[in-house]
Amino acid sequence: MLNVPSQSFPAPSSQQRVASGGRSKVPLKQGRSLMDWIRLTKSGKDLTGLKGRLIEVTEEELKKHNRKDDCWICIRGFVYNVSPYMEYHPGGEDELMRAAGSDGTDLFDQVHRWVNYESMLKECLVGRMAVKPTVLKGKSYDWFQTDCLVTIVIYTKQKDINLESIIVDHQDDSLRAETIIKDCSYLIHIGLSHEVQEDFSVRVVENVGKIEIVLKKKENASWKCLGHPLENHNSFIPRKDTDLYYRKCQLISKEDVTHDTKLFCVMLPPSTHLQVPIGHHVYLKLTVTGTEIVKPYTPVSSSLLPEFKEPVLPNNKYIYFLIKVYPAGLFTPELDHLRIGDFVSVSSPEGNFKISILQELEDLFLLAAGTGFTPMVKILNYALTSIPSLRKVKLMFFNKTEDDIIWRSQLEKLAFKDERFDVEFVLSAPTSEWTGKQGHISPALLSEFLKRSLDKSKVFICICGPTPFTEQGVKLLHDLNFSKDEIHSFTA
Ligand code: FAD
Ligand code: NAD
Repeated sequence: MLNVPSQSFPAPSSQQRVASGGRSKVPLKQGRSLMDWIRLTKSGKDLTGLKGRLIEVTEEELKKHNRKDDCWICIRGFVYNVSPYMEYHPGGEDELMRAAGSDGTDLFDQVHRWVNYESMLKECLVGRMAVKPTVLKGKSYDWFQTDCLVTIVIYTKQKDINLESIIVDHQDDSLRAETIIKDCSYLIHIGLSHEVQEDFSVRVVENVGKIEIVLKKKENASWKCLGHPLENHNSFIPRKDTDLYYRKCQLISKEDVTHDTKLFCVMLPPSTHLQVPIGHHVYLKLTVTGTEIVKPYTPVSSSLLPEFKEPVLPNNKYIYFLIKVYPAGLFTPELDHLRIGDFVSVSSPEGNFKISILQELEDLFLLAAGTGFTPMVKILNYALTSIPSLRKVKLMFFNKTEDDIIWRSQLEKLAFKDERFDVEFVLSAPTSEWTGKQGHISPALLSEFLKRSLDKSKVFICICGPTPFTEQGVKLLHDLNFSKDEIHSFTA
């Protein structure tokens, strides 16, 4: 018998993560919506044909189940019988069949790395493949102690690490420390031999690539060992193969920003060290009618520039989100119903934006549509405060109506205050009073907007919004002779 995976449902590739990820959707038959699927999974019907047993699946066995009416797929080491799900799959039966009887992890990651498949398919779980992630033979960490402290030292052998490279969660007696080294994740996962206090500190010695986690002992006894290894301890795994890890965060505040968009602030537990890199997102997870639903969100700062809002909460335990609430949406109404003090699960960060790309930049152009503004917030802030070479930042902000513009007055104040910054609003459904720019993203709008401050200035363009907006925008940018290296598009 095998254990059913307990967490990180909307695993890296879950469907909900995919929703805006550019896959093609097919029309589903009546009665085949996500809600219908959830109902079926709760009906008690045996969806695997194994009467609730979980089995260990060999490659040979997996290969045999390659027909529509008997289709097993392996995702991240777990095997699912997806035949009952075929008609409910938004990407269609053919897309699922591409992975029939095989390991579909790569295919899945291409389309929807973040979809919550573990939760959605939990009733279809057949069992586990007989393979395990690589556990390192040697170890890349050490530990030492004083009377009151225990220090764990991780040797990354990388120079470019910082406090964002390490995520630490301490819960009861277990300590989980995930170090991000390039595209891989090195995990220390230990059941500590003695009790420690809830809070701890993390230090990074950048030039030698050393990370130190300093735990405070509850009692001044000498420890004979650090503890016992827990799942995947001392393993080094490509990040795309790791499940997302979640911790529960408390909702601290919620404030209206526009008629449908709110600024949410959540607090990390004191026993977590996590910093979201600029331009990266996290997944929020809530249980909706018994099923875990996960969606990605990009943290912002509490305001565009610190002086627009005070007091900024004192430490880096707070994460802010600008989130549009869709009345007919699956996740956002649920999030909106949370009361202050309620909990929402927050994943470790993901993303491929590297802030170092902005070094020595002279012109930064930001193209945002709707909540596609969210990654621009921290980028704008960083550009204006930390890039000495910067000459100009321009934001072209596409919205339906004036009422939809997020932080309009902050943006206008900033443009007034800092002559390097300009903002232009473009409305796709303006009222007759609107005298500004209108329409959708177009060659005419872009060619006028993307004027360099100097002939050969170093330029970078960020674009984010609904998928068709981003796709059209990237195409237009290429048509205007901007190279791949000069563009970052934010997608799922
Ligand atoms: P959904 O259930 O996905 O519905 C969204 C809208 O589509 C609703 O209007 C709904 O009525 C409509 N709809 C749903 N199903 C159908 C259908 N079958 N036919 C027609 N219409 C339908 N959003 C933010 O607000 N802030 C962020 O910071 C943010 N960051 C993101 C970062 C990334 C990397 C990505 C990929 C997305 C981000 N999003 C962000 C979007 C977010 O993840 C969700 O997609 C969004 O919040 C909608 O979630 P929902 O479940 O409430 O709505
Ligand atoms: P919206 O419906 O209010 O539209 C905003 C503007 O986008 C419109 O005014 C229009 O100019 C443009 N637009 C919309 N549909 C278009 C189309 N089909 N073709 C060309 N342009 C179009 O937007 P919203 O409800 O705020 O949605 C924002 C989107 O941004 C969501 O899809 C969300 O998933 C995405 N988003 C992505 C990320 C990321 O990092 N990938 C981050 C935040 C938001």
